[in-house]
Amino acid sequence: MKKILVLHTGGTIAMKENVLTGGVSPDVANPLMDAEIQIPENVELLVEDIFILPSPHIMPNHMLILKNRIQEAIKAGVSGVVITHGTDTLEETAFFLDTTIGEQLPIVLTGAMRSSNELGSDGLYNFESAIRVASCAEAKDKGVLIVMNDEIHSARYVTKTHTTNVATFRTPTLGPIGLVTKNRILFMQELLPTRHLDIATVDGVIPIVKAYAGMHGELIEALAHTKVDGLVIEALGAGNLPPQTLAALKKLLIQKIPIVLVSRCFNGIAEPVYDYSGGGKELEDMGVIFCDSINSQKARLKLLIALNYGLSAKELVTFIHN
Ligand code: ASP
Repeated sequence: MKKILVLHTGGTIAMKENVLTGGVSPDVANPLMDAEIQIPENVELLVEDIFILPSPHIMPNHMLILKNRIQEAIKAGVSGVVITHGTDTLEETAFFLDTTIGEQLPIVLTGAMRSSNELGSDGLYNFESAIRVASCAEAKDKGVLIVMNDEIHSARYVTKTHTTNVATFRTPTLGPIGLVTKNRILFMQELLPTRHLDIATVDGVIPIVKAYAGMHGELIEALAHTKVDGLVIEALGAGNLPPQTLAALKKLLIQKIPIVLVSRCFNGIAEPVYDYSGGGKELEDMGVIFCDSINSQKARLKLLIALNYGLSAKELVTFIHN
């Protein structure tokens, strides 16, 4: 018998629409607890309501609690984990678990775009699909997975792309790594190995700043006068910034505050290509760390994890870069 640990954390999948006001909010009881779903043969579910939170309330500390609970379950011999989660920050929790736990067993996150009593509610279907994926042998060694709307995405690259559409989760540049079909769970891509860092704390202030045409350095300058442990910048194009930001960036770098750069572009990777003032080459020479292929919210978690692990400045560059 395969034991699958199910951790419910809240989100729309556990919410209900008020028929009078149209407002969606947590139900008194989690509708997933007594949901009638089909479970694959030889699978037993161990179900826990670990949190009942809308996902904008999820903090790195909740992610750490989930990581610790999963590690305890691994020791107890579970063969897979399914986490139900609000979709707003689902990609962040998934990325955190992927970076701290990795490939030891299938860990699958799912959610819903329509709450439990709405027409076309996708919650139960996604929940059932996630259980099917978590209990299938091929799901091992694929990193943490997100299963929604018949697609399987890697936690490393997936992102929420639509405010309301059930096909909201997309993996820019690469596409989904697999599909959930009527009869099969199909994987079509392999993941490159990465380094996992297990951590016991999630301390640190790491803001994200987005670049735009006409940006000046005031906001970054203000950060240089407060207590920040790192900064993530969503830069322009291949990884460039308006030159007016450079002086403020230098103030942070002198204080040995790591600055991680990602692109605000949805597809492709950030790399130092341009050799003009504020161009990627100058930024890299100044000590800004280029983070290739993940978005800013994930780069922020990656930096948080690296700092809490205590990586040296040199190791940090390699870890963030890859
Ligand atoms: N706002 C909701 C949440 O993330 C959205 C969802 O679950 O789909 O909790």
